[in-house]
Amino acid sequence: MKDTSKHQGLRNQLAKVLQQKGIVDENVLNAVRKIPRHLFIDSSFESHAYQDKAFPIAADQTISQPYTVAFQSQTLAVKNFHKVLEIGTGSGYQTAVLLELNAEVYTIERQRELFKKTSLFLPKLGYKPKKFIFGDGYKGLPEQAPFDKIIVTAGAPFVPKALLGQLKVGGSLLIPVGDKTQIMTLFTRTSPKEFEKQELGDFAFVPMLEEKN
Ligand code: SAH
Repeated sequence: MKDTSKHQGLRNQLAKVLQQKGIVDENVLNAVRKIPRHLFIDSSFESHAYQDKAFPIAADQTISQPYTVAFQSQTLAVKNFHKVLEIGTGSGYQTAVLLELNAEVYTIERQRELFKKTSLFLPKLGYKPKKFIFGDGYKGLPEQAPFDKIIVTAGAPFVPKALLGQLKVGGSLLIPVGDKTQIMTLFTRTSPKEFEKQELGDFAFVPMLEEKN
């Protein structure tokens, strides 16, 4: 697990690229400058780690593109000690960004292999979510609800009702919705029964799956 000044230089460059693409939240940019993304992907892809690209990880899944992670993190507007539920732990890179933003993170992954790998790996880097959960993100985490923020990092064919129901009033759910490509959608709970919806552009994610393998 080596991190060198060369890696640091590449991370600073990546943060600049993200700034050029419209990321302005300094806390998010600092997280990108700090987190050793090359350690989250297979070492054979190491030379690509600081390009603004998605990459394959285990179990046919991908680590999201840095711009997508930064965009979702900036849009969520996570504040210190916010209780955040993440659906789709994957490599844990987005989880690490949320932890750098001082959120209290609960993260769910449905692929056992990734769940095992990432729940061992992240704490080694010093990143400690409140809870790693092996399970189905469509159900959310009723026993820990309500949440300030819920972030979904897989493409959802529809908006799971359970997730909306687990938001605090004033809280929000950020979820890419659609089949082949997804529209990034932000739902804010404005009262116990009302939600405001904002659509924030097209993205591409691996699908949020319903059946466990
Ligand atoms: N944030 C991750 C993104 C990984 S891709 C990263 O940057 O690495 C999306 C992840 O969502 C995959 O790991 C996939 O296995 C997971 N996933 C898909 N459907 C899910 C579901 N129903 N519940 C929980 N996780 C799910």
